[in-house]
Amino acid sequence: MGPLRAAAARGLRRGGGRRAASAAREGSKASAACGGRPAPPSALHLFGDPAEVEALRGSLLAWYDKCKRDLPWRALAVTEKDVNRRAYAVWVSEIMLQQTQVATVIDYYNRWMQKWPTLQALAEASLEEVNELWAGLGYYSRGKRLQEAARKVVSELAGQMPRTAEDLQKLLPGVGRYTAGAIASISYGQATGVVDGNVIRVLCRLRCIGADPSSPAVIDRLWAMANALVDGSRPGDFNQALMELGATVCTPKAPLCGECPVKQHCRARLRVEKELALASQKLLGKLPAVPDVEDCGVGGCPLCPPAAEPWDSSLGVTNFPRKAAKKQPRVEQTATCVLERRGCRGALEYLIVQRPSSGLLAGLWEFPSVPLAPGLQQEQQREVLLDHLQAWTGQPVPAGSLRFIGEVVHIFSHIHQTYVVYSLSLDGDVTLDLASCPSRWVTEEEFRASAVSTAMKKVLRACERQRGEESGRAKGSKRKRGAKPVGSTRPGTQLSLRTFLRAPNPP
Ligand code: SF4
Ligand SMILES: [Zn+2]
Repeated sequence: MGPLRAAAARGLRRGGGRRAASAAREGSKASAACGGRPAPPSALHLFGDPAEVEALRGSLLAWYDKCKRDLPWRALAVTEKDVNRRAYAVWVSEIMLQQTQVATVIDYYNRWMQKWPTLQALAEASLEEVNELWAGLGYYSRGKRLQEAARKVVSELAGQMPRTAEDLQKLLPGVGRYTAGAIASISYGQATGVVDGNVIRVLCRLRCIGADPSSPAVIDRLWAMANALVDGSRPGDFNQALMELGATVCTPKAPLCGECPVKQHCRARLRVEKELALASQKLLGKLPAVPDVEDCGVGGCPLCPPAAEPWDSSLGVTNFPRKAAKKQPRVEQTATCVLERRGCRGALEYLIVQRPSSGLLAGLWEFPSVPLAPGLQQEQQREVLLDHLQAWTGQPVPAGSLRFIGEVVHIFSHIHQTYVVYSLSLDGDVTLDLASCPSRWVTEEEFRASAVSTAMKKVLRACERQRGEESGRAKGSKRKRGAKPVGSTRPGTQLSLRTFLRAPNPP
């Protein structure tokens, strides 16, 4: 949703009350602003019939009322009487749901709202507390920005949330066009549309939009469409219904068209039916009674699929939307050392250090780590890590005790990160330069409760697995040493076939 939302943040007049008749005009203006003056979109891509728009709204809302999932933020948006609290509750859910599945978010959301039920409570929290609660949810800057924005509302806006989508986007850091529209429509009933990944998919299918959905022309058209379609009397429900439809019925790979409440308005489905009819007529050697299915007929249409990508009958409605070209993630390697010692109560303790307060995983805790240049051999990687540990602890590190554990891969949104994991047991304490890098010793339990990333939890699991395997091997070899020699069965014990065959012959 991130890049699409960023692209979607382009300006377009809001128009919940505006209807389909004006949509084409809006589209022309938006496209003209991008340079050139392309032809207006064909009727294929528009909701040109007000009666159809009304019918679509009715069907979608009726389905939503019956089938919507029970989600904690939806309950709060309905029951919370205080408008600032209500907007805050929706805001938190929208930020958490960016890039994250609903099922994962629910538990985080409930804990967050329990701990910080108001903007004021969040504004008073420390970044450390925010990171601790956010740990495992990913994209950590979201929590940090949410808290910064809450502080701004409390200190600069007298605790009052901005009351329109435009002001929310303008005044709150980290709130883009989508989040602003969602908060304003759900919390304040402002008739403004939203465009997220789910909405893009549904609208592209409803109106056969096959051009790259991250292109400005398509994004402008989709925002115009969302603003034209939104139901003025229930904008929050309508927007949630459209997103819910994309999440549960009009899914990316296997849409349930048969169960879809708006299937009679779906032009992608219509196109599939036409293509099938055409194919079966051709198969029977008949002249087609239905004309060949073509794109919208507008030359150089910015909304149709590119000519180089013809209709693929095996894909059906999933021909729409076109998949946006994915940027390849950067490949990086980092050497990480799990430093451990026996604490004063005999429990195993690990050393964790805090990352800088800006950049990737800002403020989170991790095992001492150092980025590796590409192409280093294992021995060189080891040396880099030893140098790093030595510079940081200010004392020689027992190089012979540094054990290679293995590699742990973690995919961040834009980085394919491989952690080359080592472990090192220290006998006593080490003197650490706390000024240059905050650090602390933690037990396993404390580690899990700390603001550490999922990647670091994977690193610790790899170490524990290795330890488990080693102790298993040690036990196995002890058993082997103490094993009875073959054939030394007790009198009366039945021999297995293998043992019998290998047992010495009786004298
Ligand atoms: S009919 Fe199918 S493709 Fe069209 S909106 Fe419904 S689920 Fe999506
Ligand atoms: Zn077209």
